Amino acid sequence: MRTDMMTTDRLDTFGRVSGATLLASFVILALAAAGLGYSQSGLLLGLFVVLLLIATAFSVSRHLLSGRHPDNSDSVRSSVLSRGIVGWLFGVVLTVFYVILYWFPHLLGGMVALFDLPSNLLRGKDADQWFMYGTFYTLAVVLMGIRAMARYRGSRYHVIRTMSVMFFQLILAFIVPSILVLFRKPELYFSYFWPLDYDLLWPSSVEQLTQEGFLGAFALTWGIILTFVATPILTYFFGKRWYCSWVCGCGGLAETAGDPFRHLSDKRLVAWKIERWMIHGVLLLIVATTLLLWLNTLAGGAVLGSVSSGFTQFYGFYIGAIFSGVIGVGFYPLMGARVWCRFGCPMAAILGIQQRFFSRFRITTNGGQCISCGNCSKYCEMGIDVRWYAQRGQNIVRASCVGCGVCATVCPRGVLKLENGPGDGRFGDGFVARDSVEILRPGD
Ligand code: SF4
Ligand code: SF4
Repeated sequence: MRTDMMTTDRLDTFGRVSGATLLASFVILALAAAGLGYSQSGLLLGLFVVLLLIATAFSVSRHLLSGRHPDNSDSVRSSVLSRGIVGWLFGVVLTVFYVILYWFPHLLGGMVALFDLPSNLLRGKDADQWFMYGTFYTLAVVLMGIRAMARYRGSRYHVIRTMSVMFFQLILAFIVPSILVLFRKPELYFSYFWPLDYDLLWPSSVEQLTQEGFLGAFALTWGIILTFVATPILTYFFGKRWYCSWVCGCGGLAETAGDPFRHLSDKRLVAWKIERWMIHGVLLLIVATTLLLWLNTLAGGAVLGSVSSGFTQFYGFYIGAIFSGVIGVGFYPLMGARVWCRFGCPMAAILGIQQRFFSRFRITTNGGQCISCGNCSKYCEMGIDVRWYAQRGQNIVRASCVGCGVCATVCPRGVLKLENGPGDGRFGDGFVARDSVEILRPGD
């Protein structure tokens, strides 16, 4: 019998088994944190990984066995995906985890020790809380990435884009930094640039990198070229999607582990207004902080004196830790997966300004075909009311659009297309399709 005959109830059973197995893997972690199994850490880690694999297998099967792709039927019925009681509980657990991770890591105790074996293999030393967190993060991107590829298997754009974020997280943000530590080198992350990697260009980091020999000089040059040369060029040709949906670790987590929550983004006009104030406020803050620190250094400490450390601590604590970590990921089940990208990321702010005013990227709409079903708006993780533009046949040229392409994929009428073309007619409906230079489009 064809798989698309699988009933919704049976598909939901797959989803429930996946959720229950995931919960069991969390119980393993909680037991480890409580100090149980110190002597059996290898066994517990193995059990944890096996449970994660089973949870992934059931979730992937659920999507493969569904005749629809993407199958969004669970987003309304599932409590965890519709801000039900389980969703709130999950949000609280995630948030508490982040608070403990940042400020009370000693409470994690045996949970960190679970990861001693992989840490010793990769880095030549016992795990700390950040290695454990990096492992969780990478597992989430890779395993949920496999799930996302099953969900969007009908779209080459999504499959390749998901493989891209999995690659950058696994190789550049996990394996390479670990191997550098193994060889007693500085732990460098080559897929993050200023201002997302906010202290990369601060005087203290620059001084430290210049003392690290060739590798430090390479990392600094790489960061400067990517920040000031490659980023503007790539954003001009492809919009901010080249980074936010193909490379960035925060975006990678949002597109994989956060994908089931994408419909929870706030679509109201007031959210759009708050978003613009907040994200540009954070951008101003990091630019001002960086400039002041350099001014202070050049003036031999005469400008800020000891106050400069207050600036750096303020940014690191409130933006780097609370906003991007605790709220950015902890609130996935409540506010969707792009809270940080939408309201706080200074990198997204810069890319967005350029995308809005100086880029070839736009989403074109064939308004005559739109049936106003609202799918596009509902599944836009950045809270853009896509339908509003589609109904009017207007191109979508929004600073916040990360070019994920899901709006186009869920549209039943093929109204929306992500395109890169010449600037003429970019904002209106006079876009001439034959002049466009497209990369992979959703639906291809
Ligand atoms: S408008 Fe479409 S491509 Fe842009 S962020 Fe929203 S869903 Fe993704
Ligand atoms: S999903 Fe397509 S048909 Fe439905 S409102 Fe959006 S553009 Fe219109």
